[in-house]
Amino acid sequence: MLPDANRAVARLARLLFRVCPVIRRVLEIPDPGLREPCAPVAEITPDLVRLAGDMFDTMHANAGVGLAAPQVGVHARLFVLELPPDDDDPLSGRRFVLINPEIALTGARTEMVEGCLSLPGFRAMINRAEGVTVEFTQLDGARVALDARGLFAQAVQHEADHLDGVLFIDHLKSMLDLEKIPPEMLDWTEETEAEAA
Ligand SMILES: [Zn+2]
Repeated sequence: MLPDANRAVARLARLLFRVCPVIRRVLEIPDPGLREPCAPVAEITPDLVRLAGDMFDTMHANAGVGLAAPQVGVHARLFVLELPPDDDDPLSGRRFVLINPEIALTGARTEMVEGCLSLPGFRAMINRAEGVTVEFTQLDGARVALDARGLFAQAVQHEADHLDGVLFIDHLKSMLDLEKIPPEMLDWTEETEAEAA
């Protein structure tokens, strides 16, 4: 847990950055910054709270559902997730900051369509586990564990890869499997943008 003073600063920072969105530049492939492995977060500081707030703002500005710190040039082991509300998924419609995540894959493996904010305009079918168990530290310092399936589990796998310098294209057998998102396929584009992470 944070000491009281830090908690007050964190609350104030969250309030300020809700009022004034800060959009950070998202690194794009082939930026070498996307390939650097990230160091564990040692301490939850006001700067880290501010970073998480900026990451939500940046993710929303780019219509993503997840964003990892290295995508905004910070090589620390954290990512944020916020799935669009879905009555069938209790983890949707909520903000998650996952610090120092440890993930275990569960369920069968399956092909899922996936995109990445660091490769705008492209998508591909990626083989992922259907579920994950993820243990992580929250911004309030609590260590928690979640079981997730579906889009949340997919996004956790995608973002956790970023922390190790791994990109979704690394899961492809060939770059020819990458597909440009056709601009005329608006429904498809909206769906894919919603899944970009
Ligand atoms: Zn990504």
